[in-house]
Amino acid sequence: MTTRVAHGVATDLVRASVVVAPGVSELRTLPLPEIDEDAGLLRVEGAGVCGTDVGNYFRDTEPRILGHENVGRVVALGRRAAERWGIEEGARVAVEEYLPCGHCAVCRTTDYRLCAATDSRAGGTRFGSTPVTVEPALWGGYSQYLYLHPRTVLHRIPEDMDAHLAAMTLPVANGYEWAVIEGRAGPGRTIVVIGPGQQGLACVYAAKAAGADQVIVLGLGRDARRLELAREYGAAVVVDVDEQDPVAVVEKVTGGAGADLVLDTARGDATTIGWGVEMVARRGQILISTATDVVDGMAMKALQWKVASIRGVRGHSNSAVAWAITTLSRPDTPLAAMSTHVFGLDEVDQAIRATGGQMGDDVVHVTVDPWHGAPLATLSADPIGAS
Ligand SMILES: [Zn+2]
Ligand SMILES: [Zn+2]
Repeated sequence: MTTRVAHGVATDLVRASVVVAPGVSELRTLPLPEIDEDAGLLRVEGAGVCGTDVGNYFRDTEPRILGHENVGRVVALGRRAAERWGIEEGARVAVEEYLPCGHCAVCRTTDYRLCAATDSRAGGTRFGSTPVTVEPALWGGYSQYLYLHPRTVLHRIPEDMDAHLAAMTLPVANGYEWAVIEGRAGPGRTIVVIGPGQQGLACVYAAKAAGADQVIVLGLGRDARRLELAREYGAAVVVDVDEQDPVAVVEKVTGGAGADLVLDTARGDATTIGWGVEMVARRGQILISTATDVVDGMAMKALQWKVASIRGVRGHSNSAVAWAITTLSRPDTPLAAMSTHVFGLDEVDQAIRATGGQMGDDVVHVTVDPWHGAPLATLSADPIGAS
């Protein structure tokens, strides 16, 4: 049995931006899928653009709809999906990018993001990376509608939450996951964040919210605006590494003790990890959320001598997403300043290039709003608000 998509959706067609070749996207019209008892359909209100999209955009070979940080309203919902997700049709939700199997060993822990079934590098399925050749094609948020697969993980968001702020849910969740859950930022601890992008800034905010004594942020000369935001979020010291030696600054600020936690959200290469090894405290920790394939010339002796560790992190747990939603839905959240740009579906190319630093230095977080600037002839009626 299938649920017909009526619910005020006045069209059978969906406009989506499809990446057709490396660095090339194209507007396409795709059929609105029928929704069976286990699935649902999201009318996308906003899709955040993340650094991962930039990498995927320029390396893609198979056509796909990018966009994995999605929020919107559920406009069609199968009976069993409603039971499983604990929502009703019309619910406003933030959707995680993962489609975990639900029954493997990691799915039975908070680590379901590591489930092989949702590992797109190993042929798994996830939002924002699965090709349009896989039915029903609507796997990414740079589209008016997103197919909600039976294995979707979603979170209810408040009715009055701004869609563009809600589109920052996942990067903000990453900041909490890495700085607080993985990095144990809190009272008595000094944290260095390398890279003041959206996730680095989220790490700063989360670390301070958790009570970290001191946060030091490293950025480049062109990151001036982002470093200003880092200060607003509570960073005690910001370092322009084009001007200052970051290792010397951290040594001075910590009285020679070093940082308890160094979070590299910038490059994960010999330079940034090298700084981490030099500036980390004894028994400290370096967490890398990005990495180059091979890192040469690292000072491993210092790491071993300090009994320090280096470890990878990626993504977020369920509770980190819950924290992000609570934080971003506060009416006066300072994180609103991170939401700097909104682009329409026909501007996905600019949205991704802006996030990649090709359109000026004031860009922090970009949202694609698939209804922004859409020609009226192709606009569907608002399924909830139009009555
Ligand atoms: Zn992302
Ligand atoms: Zn699994």
